[in-house]
Amino acid sequence: MTTTGDERERGFDHTAIEPHWQEAWDEADVFRIEDDATDPEYVLAMFPYTSGSLHMGHVRNYTITDAFARFERMRGESVLHPMGWDSFGLPAENAAEERDTNPRDWTLGCIDSMKEQLTEMGFGYDWEREVTTCDPDYYRWNQWLFKRFDEAGLVERQGAELNWCPSCETVLADEQVEGEAELCWRCDTPIEHREMDQWFLTITDYAEELLESLDDLEGWPNNVREMQRNWIGKQEGASVAFEVGDYGAVDIFTTRLDTIYGATYFSLAPGHPVAQEIAEDNDEVADYVHEVEHADEDDLEVTSGVFTGEYATNPATGEEIPVYVADYVLTDVGTGALYAVPAHDDRDHEFATHHDIPIEQVVEPTEDAEVDPDDIDVQEAAYTEDGVLVNSGEYGGLTSEQARDRFVEVFDGEHRTEYNLRDWGISRQRYWGTPIPMIDCPDCGYVPVPDEDLPVELPEFVHTTGNPLDAAEEWKHVNCPDCGADAVRETDTMDTFVDSSWYFLRYTSPALDDAPFDAERATDWMPVDQYVGGIEHAVMHLLYARFFTKVVDDLDLLSGGVREPFTNLTNQGMVLGADGNKMSKSLGNGVSPQRIIEEYGADTARLFIMEAAQPEKEFAWSAEGVQSAHSFLQNVYELTADYVAGDVETGERDDIAEYVAREIDATAARATEEYEEFRFNHALQAARELVSLLRRYEEATDPAPETFERGLVTVTKLLAPVAPHVAEEIWQELDNDGLVAEADWPAGEAPEDYGIERRLVEDTREDVRDIVDTVGIEDPQRITLAVAPDWKHRVVDIAREADNVVPAVMQNEDLQRHGEAAADFAKELAGRATFADLLTPEQEVATLRRAAWLLEREFGAEVVVQSPEETDEGLIGNAEPGRPAIDIAE
Ligand SMILES: [Zn+2]
Ligand SMILES: [Zn+2]
Repeated sequence: MTTTGDERERGFDHTAIEPHWQEAWDEADVFRIEDDATDPEYVLAMFPYTSGSLHMGHVRNYTITDAFARFERMRGESVLHPMGWDSFGLPAENAAEERDTNPRDWTLGCIDSMKEQLTEMGFGYDWEREVTTCDPDYYRWNQWLFKRFDEAGLVERQGAELNWCPSCETVLADEQVEGEAELCWRCDTPIEHREMDQWFLTITDYAEELLESLDDLEGWPNNVREMQRNWIGKQEGASVAFEVGDYGAVDIFTTRLDTIYGATYFSLAPGHPVAQEIAEDNDEVADYVHEVEHADEDDLEVTSGVFTGEYATNPATGEEIPVYVADYVLTDVGTGALYAVPAHDDRDHEFATHHDIPIEQVVEPTEDAEVDPDDIDVQEAAYTEDGVLVNSGEYGGLTSEQARDRFVEVFDGEHRTEYNLRDWGISRQRYWGTPIPMIDCPDCGYVPVPDEDLPVELPEFVHTTGNPLDAAEEWKHVNCPDCGADAVRETDTMDTFVDSSWYFLRYTSPALDDAPFDAERATDWMPVDQYVGGIEHAVMHLLYARFFTKVVDDLDLLSGGVREPFTNLTNQGMVLGADGNKMSKSLGNGVSPQRIIEEYGADTARLFIMEAAQPEKEFAWSAEGVQSAHSFLQNVYELTADYVAGDVETGERDDIAEYVAREIDATAARATEEYEEFRFNHALQAARELVSLLRRYEEATDPAPETFERGLVTVTKLLAPVAPHVAEEIWQELDNDGLVAEADWPAGEAPEDYGIERRLVEDTREDVRDIVDTVGIEDPQRITLAVAPDWKHRVVDIAREADNVVPAVMQNEDLQRHGEAAADFAKELAGRATFADLLTPEQEVATLRRAAWLLEREFGAEVVVQSPEETDEGLIGNAEPGRPAIDIAE
């Protein structure tokens, strides 16, 4: 029992202990991983963009990986848990403009302050592996990899539409175009679109593998895999040629060749070469093409389009069908041309209805379809399912599938697979990125910068309306590496997604200066075991990283076998404001991590966030939740401090101690499983329950010191991944050696039969409550629990197996001795469908004796547990295995 303690200072002071332990971890190199570690557990959070401050989303993201990394480390794993900076990008240029500084100084300042905030949160990283993408030591490898990709035929120049300000005479990034009117950010001139050649990585070469291997990424959320599948957008179909006016044969791509007899018009994308040709002689078409080029895509209706006056010949029917130019046909998907079948395609139907084009049905539901063919009216709506062909010449009666196969032959087409995935345009007309290592020579064309001249470092930042690299005259003009002629550097920089496509490889050998990463080590340490970050990266970053991993393996930069970068992926949910809305400045519902750290400490913030919900779920910030987390930590600390100060009288190892000992083991087992499964909130719930049990133990009796202390140690360890500072403090109070961060995780074996024991105790407590309530016993004095005799267990064993319980029991000679009682009990069991697992009568007695103190505390009554031998006849008749008879005396 607690006797004193009020004179001592209560609680811990987070402002003192948190910096103290952060320093201690640092000095002990707790988070360092040596280069010679073998296949460590690789735990990684998506690295932050260097905005200058952490928000709650970051805090949640990094708490998850930090807790898991600490958990694995305590389990004896070598753990790689690094951190770095996604530090290129336009915001740094904007900030530099606003603050009259340069992107580099601004970014480095942001990194300093963010690093400090991460440290204050108690996140444990191996800072010797820090990676900073705007550092020439990092981005030289972007350039080096670009060259290897180029040599492997994975780099192409392709035309792409860019934003052009006619007044500033410069290309603008999408982010530099403002508002719906699309104005230049500098001079408010409406921008124009210009087609210009850009650098592309041909990710489409890997479309099939990127798609197929998604099936094997079982550690990824299904929705992310589905988003990638849709993004890659594989379509199996066929191409067939239509003669278009005097323009010759035009290839179309369709997934529904079975509907070719129903084609009533032909459609070209505005960018299709034939559409462009027609536009030269046809003002109406020219106007439309111009309009589309300057319109916001979202403003155009599906029905937008114009008749060209030309006709195309349907190879199936010989019919002439009108040719339209329509924006809904995408230039870069399929062939940019299609035949339209309004009866069987929703978009075609809408377009045809608007333009008054005939609608002709050529497919109807099969006989076993759920829809009656007579209920289909294609004039009203398209029928888009497969079915049986009608109105299709000699092919009526074929199924859609058969027709698709036949028609490829008949109409001289070919089977074709198309993907929505486009090549990855990496040219950016900005300063703060990796210079693309190419030199444009008037004689040789584009020549790569020789490896020995890498990195091509960024020149000094200058304030200019356009791209600062373009204005860097001295930097820009060089001699051609091949012929020595006057040449110019490429002034575009790389998309920053290049930086983040392989940074996880660089962590394995961050200082290496003759390769981007060490092939052997990267192969051994990869893939990342646990990758945690936002769902907004479901497509671009996560797809590009997969692409890079496959390419570097194909380039033999890895030693083989690593084809995917991330084995398990978790997308953490959002932290909402207390009002349930997304945190935002305008709503004023944001919570600053800095303020929470100051007021309550990092441990409280971490605990609250991890208890609030499972990682994938969103949750709302709650002042009460924060308060509860804080009080809980103080409570654990005080319980320990009282004990250590000798304020808790100690006693014998009795039945209660046995009960508590078993709960300690069971809790450790449960929490371990929950940590493994990323259900941190459940693990923490288990820890809370154990603390509450220790409190009750200490109130109920003088606890056995070894049991009580083991309970405290276990709680401390279970909390250590999430609330690491307080855990160290308690660990030290308990006079342990070393750091809890490096201590062994508690052995996680639940006692044998623990589940059955727990159910017995809970059912019995529930039954006692029921009796007390139903009978209306105000002040129970004595509760007697009588355990069922062994023969009843044997009856249950027979009932488990037998179809006919009563005869089976009565045939048993031993049981016959119990006469009517055995028959009656057998009858009772006959109706039961299932039987729970049971303890022996001796185990039941022992279990109930260990748990008797819980009933004593709850009802303020003496509790007697009787073995079958001790029980009087009247009471034992009601006892069943797993369900003791209960007598309550007032
Ligand atoms: Zn401008
Ligand atoms: Zn040259």
